[in-house]
Order: sequence, then C-alpha cells, then structure tokens
Amino acid sequence: MVEQFHGYAAFDEKSVLKPYSYTPKPLGDEDIEVEISHCGICGSDLHTMRSGWRQTLYPAILGHEIAGNVLNKGPKVVNFNIGDRVGIGCQVHSCGECVECTAGYDQLCAKKVFTYNDKWKDAEGVPTKYQAQGGYADKIRANSSFVFHIPKEISSAEACPLLCAGLSTFAPLKRHKVGPKHKVGIAGIGGLGHLAIQWAAKMGAEVTAISHSDQKRDEAIKLGATHFLNILDPNDVIKFTHSLDIILSTSCSSNTDWSKYMSFIKNHGTLILIGLPEAPLQIPVFAFMRFVKVEGSLTGGRQDIKDMLAFAVKHNVRPWIQTVPMKDVNKGIKIVLDGKARYRVVLEN
Ligand SMILES: [Zn+2]
Ligand SMILES: [Zn+2]
Repeated sequence: MVEQFHGYAAFDEKSVLKPYSYTPKPLGDEDIEVEISHCGICGSDLHTMRSGWRQTLYPAILGHEIAGNVLNKGPKVVNFNIGDRVGIGCQVHSCGECVECTAGYDQLCAKKVFTYNDKWKDAEGVPTKYQAQGGYADKIRANSSFVFHIPKEISSAEACPLLCAGLSTFAPLKRHKVGPKHKVGIAGIGGLGHLAIQWAAKMGAEVTAISHSDQKRDEAIKLGATHFLNILDPNDVIKFTHSLDIILSTSCSSNTDWSKYMSFIKNHGTLILIGLPEAPLQIPVFAFMRFVKVEGSLTGGRQDIKDMLAFAVKHNVRPWIQTVPMKDVNKGIKIVLDGKARYRVVLEN
C-alpha cells in the first residue's frame, strides 16, 4: 500500500481547508520524518491559501512553524534519535554548498525547498513530482539539516512561532548587530512584531513600538518597548521625526503610509521590510535622499535558527500564544484573519 500523510489543505482561493491525504517524498538517506504535535498559523499561510503573492500549487497543506517528534530517519542521520523533540521552519532543504548556503543565506539557495507550496527537487535542482506539504498535518519529512532540536526550556507549542515569526524578526536584527547604541522601531504589533520588540529590547536597544492606534500600547510596553508611536497622532509624528536608526516593518497592509515610516528614520538609517504587502511599495524618491536605505529580509538561515533558539533560552523570549485543536484549523485561521490573535495561534494534534 502507498504510504499517505494526512492533513488539511487549501483546494482553491476561496474555500476553507478540508482534509487531504498525499503521498510523501520517499525518506532520503539524510531525511527525518516527524510526527507533528503542533503547528503555528503564520500570516504567510493565509497569503498562500488565497494565492495572494503568486499562484499557489493546490491542494496545499500550509504551516511552517512545526514541532513534533522524530518518528523515522534515514541511515545517514546521526545527530537525531527516534523520539527527539524537534522543530521545522519555513524551509526543508537547501544544497548546503553554493555561495548563498555557505554565507548563511540558505533561504536564497537556488535548490532550496520551502516547507510548503513548493516541489522537492532532485540533485540537479530540477523539481520532482513530490510536492512539499506543510505542518497542518500528522507527519512531515525534511532534510535533517533543517530539523532543529527544541531546547528543554521551550515548550513545543511555544517553539512553533519562533521557527518563522521568531526567525524572521531575529535574523535582521542580528545581521544589523543591534545593541545598546541603537534606537529601533518595530512597526506592527502582531505575530511578528511582538517577538521583534522582545528581541530588540533584550539586545539592549531602545525600542519604539509603532502602531496605528493606542490599542496595544500597554502590551507593547510589557513586551519591552520604551516608547509607543501612534502614527495617526500628529504630536507623535512630530516627536519621532528622524529619531530611529532602524525600523523593522512587519506590516502586511497594502495601505501603509511608507513615507511616514521613512520620516521617522535618522539620516543614514534603514527601513527593513519583513512583512510582505500584496501591493507594490510606493515611496517618493525624496524620502531616500537622506541616505536612508530600504532593504528586505526573508526568514533566516540554519545558523540564525540555532542562534535564535539559544538567545530565546538565555533571555527568556517567548511568543504569546493560544492553542486550538488541529481539527479546528479553520477556526484558528478565522481568529488570525479577524485580527484577534494575541499574538499567535498554534494548532495542536
Ligand atoms: Zn545552496
Ligand atoms: Zn511564516
């Protein structure tokens, strides 16, 4: 009998997720098979569900914040034992030897395989018939170099949001060597932002949480922000003009006023985009003339994940989560779509 994994998949742009079984890729020599215990719901899942960024390969099982236990492993896997508690993030494979992989940018490898909405590739990087399917499921297979031990201090449910939201916010702050001399703005206080505030504060930076209402002011302060900037408050806009070295934007809204964000950044400062609005960015050229840079940042590499998990343990950074049974996945998605997640929904098998 052909082996089948079972999960919940999107079948088109409109419908809710429905049960779906698929044939997984054969277990390779360096692969690990994980029995999934938890999976976080990420904003990327929702964009992909609706083909918001590009045409999705349906049926698509979403979910790339995965925790579980090692159920099976290939003969060349030495650093994991059956039963180990492990996590898998946004990526399940890269070549490990190209210029990007060796520089720590595994996510830019030409032979990379994302955790879902992608095809497994052969040794030459040519897509195979096996579709990569995500963590809203009972099992998953991944190359063992993209499987990570979860430290004993971190619960499996809490580990999930760290593997995408945590990584995506930690990696750019690490790359910019954020520390006590930096004034850092975190725009958008949600699944990504609530972790970004904690990282930046624990790195020693003076953190300004940026939002479009006062609603999350108290929570932002509790997370470690020193200041709160309501971009719709004209007094705040004046007060924070040219005051920040870096703004990390988690905003996915296509209505974001980017000129305003640029105005908060000091000369020579940087706007880092990690949220991915579906509409093109519109910024007047004048906003760049103070030598302000705009850069994007996509997730992080394997070393970033290891550094992040160690940092989370050392500085006690944890996501704020609520759990929902996996079978109620559509309920969990609705909580996120309604903007009611505080701050991450994690599905539980
Ligand atoms: Zn590579
Ligand atoms: Zn994600």
